Amino acid sequence: MEFTHNIAILGSTGSIGTQTLAVAREYKGIGVKAITAHSNIKLMEEQIREFKPELAAVTDEEKAKELKIRVADTGTKVTGGSEGLLEAASHHSAETVVTAVVGISGLEPTIEAIKAKKNIALANKETLVTGGHIVTALAKRYKTTILPVDSEHSAIFQSLMGNHRKELKRILLTASGGPFFGKKKSELTNITPEDALKHPNWHMGAKVTIDSSTLVNKGLEIIEAKWLFDVDIDKIKVLVHRQSIIHSMVEFVDNGIIAQLGAPDMRLPIQFALTYPNRLPMKGNELDFSALSGLTFDEPDTETFYALELAKKAGRDGGTLPTVFNGADEAAVDLFLKGRLPYLGITEAIQRAMETVGSTEEPTLEEILEADKAAKETVYNYYN
Ligand code: NDP
Ligand code: MG
Repeated sequence: MEFTHNIAILGSTGSIGTQTLAVAREYKGIGVKAITAHSNIKLMEEQIREFKPELAAVTDEEKAKELKIRVADTGTKVTGGSEGLLEAASHHSAETVVTAVVGISGLEPTIEAIKAKKNIALANKETLVTGGHIVTALAKRYKTTILPVDSEHSAIFQSLMGNHRKELKRILLTASGGPFFGKKKSELTNITPEDALKHPNWHMGAKVTIDSSTLVNKGLEIIEAKWLFDVDIDKIKVLVHRQSIIHSMVEFVDNGIIAQLGAPDMRLPIQFALTYPNRLPMKGNELDFSALSGLTFDEPDTETFYALELAKKAGRDGGTLPTVFNGADEAAVDLFLKGRLPYLGITEAIQRAMETVGSTEEPTLEEILEADKAAKETVYNYYN
């Protein structure tokens, strides 16, 4: 199929970023015009030599200088600092921006991209969790589309295609349950980062892997779905589905349910966000039903994994509370990975921050960034 689509990738050296490049490697029609990373310039140099982007932005200034020297023989412009991220997000040659940086750092470049009339292939869920009202309103104003890359949201999006949105009754958001499914709090006291970094079905960046184990990720995804599909938090039901074969489902008013299935492979949702409304062939990883021993469904254990309930509260109450939920989690995961916070302390830290940092209604971007800072400071100060 003839196909041309020029993209910028924010976070090209991460899990989603490298898989986006794998899709681009397969389809020469996808042109990679700008890439960004925080500090991994070794991988970035390889990416520059292979994909020949016009721009490579590295947020760490020192690393940017080093990269500039290393790739002086190429035609790629190298920039440093956070402005580089914004420059990549609004790069004139890109039609779509893949947001694959981690954490709230995705919010400002995504806003910049929309203002530059770019379509968004959204992996960075933190963008909608913290600034959903701003980002969705801007996308309407600038007539750009936000296509989900998160596998569950891509599944919901695909399941809604060809149906009337007003006939949607609820969303069934599936969760793998993570590595500690079935465990109670008393069994989770000595969990190490190494234990929590072992996800049963997906290989992802450290933050989202830890978030999957605490169900914080599913909480963030509920809020992400609220903004992407304009549904109330209470119309989104989380269902634990250990095999990660059904990527999510939608139920209509006549009780009809439509699901999207496939082997756990992020290349499909990434590719679909870049080729929509077309589908391109995918090599390998077909779903083999005869190899499946069964598909199981369980209710989430919201007593042990109560981050899910905290996320629902944040999503319902709105304002800056979802930002506080997310910011506290970012800080707590950072401390946990450094061995300075016990595993169960992650959700405790989120709860404490939600109780102590106030919430502002209809926040501006500045107020969101302030709330993020306050939530992080609360967590870092408490555990230092
Ligand atoms: P990774 O940690 O693997 O990659 C993060 C990327 O962002 C890297 O390119 C990294 O650069 C860059 N980065 C890190 N910190 C900063 C910063 N402060 N400023 C600018 N850039 C930064 O993350 P993932 O790819 O796993 O996740 C990316 C996003 O996609 C997250 O929001 C996650 O929730 C979402 N997502 C991920 C899925 C997955 O399967 N991985 C599935 C669904 C959603 P460097 O390498 O130089 O550090
Ligand atoms: Mg997901």
